[in-house]
Amino acid sequence: MKFATKVVHAGISPDPTTGAIVPPIYETATYVLDEVGQDKGFDYTRSANPTREVLEANLAAVEGGRYGVCYASGMSAVDACLKLLGAGDHVVCSDDVYGGVSRHFNKVLARYGLGFTYVDTSQPETVRQAIRPETRLLWVETPTNPLLKVTDLAAMAAIAREHGLYFAVDSTFATPVFLRPLEYGADMVMHSTTKYLSGHNQIIGGLVVTDRDDIHDELKFVQKTIGAVPSPFDCWLTLSGLKTLHLRMARHAENAQKVAAFLEAHPKVARVAYPGLASHPQHAVARAQMSGFSGMISFELNGGMAAGKALMNGVRLCGLAESLGSVETMITHPATMTHAEVPPEERHARGLSDGLVRLSVGIEDADDIIADLEQALEQA
Ligand code: PLP
Repeated sequence: MKFATKVVHAGISPDPTTGAIVPPIYETATYVLDEVGQDKGFDYTRSANPTREVLEANLAAVEGGRYGVCYASGMSAVDACLKLLGAGDHVVCSDDVYGGVSRHFNKVLARYGLGFTYVDTSQPETVRQAIRPETRLLWVETPTNPLLKVTDLAAMAAIAREHGLYFAVDSTFATPVFLRPLEYGADMVMHSTTKYLSGHNQIIGGLVVTDRDDIHDELKFVQKTIGAVPSPFDCWLTLSGLKTLHLRMARHAENAQKVAAFLEAHPKVARVAYPGLASHPQHAVARAQMSGFSGMISFELNGGMAAGKALMNGVRLCGLAESLGSVETMITHPATMTHAEVPPEERHARGLSDGLVRLSVGIEDADDIIADLEQALEQA
């Protein structure tokens, strides 16, 4: 099957009892056995659920992998990957990962004896230098949230292989429409399905896709043991959203390219980060490994904190909201929103300045998005 056909059909067949074209929502906790030891493949929904199985099969196919395992959130998907490790193990991680990921690593998993080193994974040499004898996992986010740094995945896979590390990629921003990390040698691809994959701001969910039997066995074991599973209804909503993934992503990317060009030419904007702009430091890598540049942009206002707040308060069409990857355009000011808890010195050291703005470009008409930003920038 070609990609668009997989999105619509992979893992989905008419319901065997009724022929329903849409997989039913099996909103059940348990399943009645015919007799002792004779179930129909399901015994308890924490372990397995038919609606979730359809979603997992579809997502595995779309990501180009053998196995998909779904979780109740992107964060619980991250946590499941980290459960492959044990006390004393060390992780090398991209330095601009989503703040919730570094918070989980530093404030929760560090308590259980795991160690973390953050490096700019867009520079392969810094990754090599950070590896220690106890390093077990290389965790890469590309493009990163919020600075849109892009990492060369083939280079990372070579380093991971050389040192016998698991290699995991958070591909939430790229989506399988534009990037399939397994093709570059990743062992695990992780997504917050809350974002583009479900695409409609309706659910919180997570996914890990792998080709490896040993990793899949462990992920399933953790999924059923801990139970951070998505509800059947959320699986169904995710399946519904997924049907148009390829169409939505094409529009997200087309709009983002136009909005990025508009922002780059605006006098109140100091800098724009969008992998599709020739000015992006890793534009060549993005071009080579991605088939499109997705819908996320970050940009820097000349006027710092005051300008950031004025822009946020001035938008009318763009939603002032913390999430991303949905059909609606959403705008975030990391200094006062997602990263408000991070001390200013630490924020600035990470390149998250007070005038930084993150934009999740939706699928509305690009002219309307630009007009809204234009009027709000007048106030910034
Ligand atoms: N990874 C990335 C890149 C994210 O942007 C997010 C959330 O914003 C997550 C992981 C966590 O996902 P969730 O919010 O679904 O737990």
